[in-house]
Amino acid sequence: MKKIGFIGLGNMGLPMSQSLLLSNFTVYGMDLNKEAEMSFHQSGGTIGVSIETMVKQCDVILTSLPSSQAVEEVFLGEKGLVYLVDSAVMLIDTSTVAPELNIRIEEAAKKKDVDFLAAPVSGGVIGAVNRTLTFMVGGSKNVFDKARPLFDAMGENIFHVNDQIDSGTNTKLINNLLIGFYTAGVSEALHLAKNSNLDLERLFEMLNVSYGQSRIYERNYKSFIANDNYEPGFALELLRKDLGFALGLAAKNDLELPLSKILFDLYEEAVENGYGDKDMSILYKKISEQATK
Ligand code: NAD
Repeated sequence: MKKIGFIGLGNMGLPMSQSLLLSNFTVYGMDLNKEAEMSFHQSGGTIGVSIETMVKQCDVILTSLPSSQAVEEVFLGEKGLVYLVDSAVMLIDTSTVAPELNIRIEEAAKKKDVDFLAAPVSGGVIGAVNRTLTFMVGGSKNVFDKARPLFDAMGENIFHVNDQIDSGTNTKLINNLLIGFYTAGVSEALHLAKNSNLDLERLFEMLNVSYGQSRIYERNYKSFIANDNYEPGFALELLRKDLGFALGLAAKNDLELPLSKILFDLYEEAVENGYGDKDMSILYKKISEQATK
């Protein structure tokens, strides 16, 4: 398992593919964005191969794509990976998508005797750069064991959830539901602090050693809010997408999650207000600008 194809060289995919290069895998990269491909090429990756060549050359093809639509197109579309590969090639999607899409890809892959894992990640761009990502993998344990060296090259905490293909995605959606709540909570709390004449830096120092501490508070405050710089990171619209999937999962299980619904509406409104392509921590700015009576 030495030759890897990597489709989607964005905020996550670029550092993840670079980690594979650092572990001496040969990596063929592909992205619609030519600048992303150039950055990958400058790190020693191969670009410019067609999808047909990639599937012939590679043992494994990984994807890191922004939406269910993009993943559906790349796996099940006209030149879909599932239809182009033969059973010697393993497919691994690391994107966060609707769980039902994991199931449809697995069904199509099974018909061709192709191994497929749905392996979403957590840890953000910093985790991808530092090779400390958490992988939550759904699918066959045997296939997971074969793919393990790749996960180890990109991450630190590697979990096989269970054999059900969408089990990693469901885990990840619970994680991101919590991220949504934490980010909203930090945003409103810091808005209150600022308007109560508290210094945000000093507040962080104190709460970071109190029960109000969280990894999201540290991340959102230290890396974004404190610098008033909201370049992603994890784009707010991607979090909105995942909250939508979490609500879909709740509906599938006949569950009402009233607070999660309010949360989703808040992020939906933030996207409508033009904050979607900024880091999720920009919710603080939206709340500061709009919540003052
Ligand atoms: P991104 O938008 O930065 O990168 C996605 C890349 O895919 C872009 O470069 C885009 O040009 C490319 N792309 C889109 N359609 C394509 C296609 N058909 N063929 C080839 N390339 C295509 O997104 P990201 O932040 O890197 O996130 C990728 C995935 O990882 C998402 O599913 C996201 O939910 C998940 N994720 C992101 C983070 C984070 O912190 N950014 C953390 C964990 C998981």
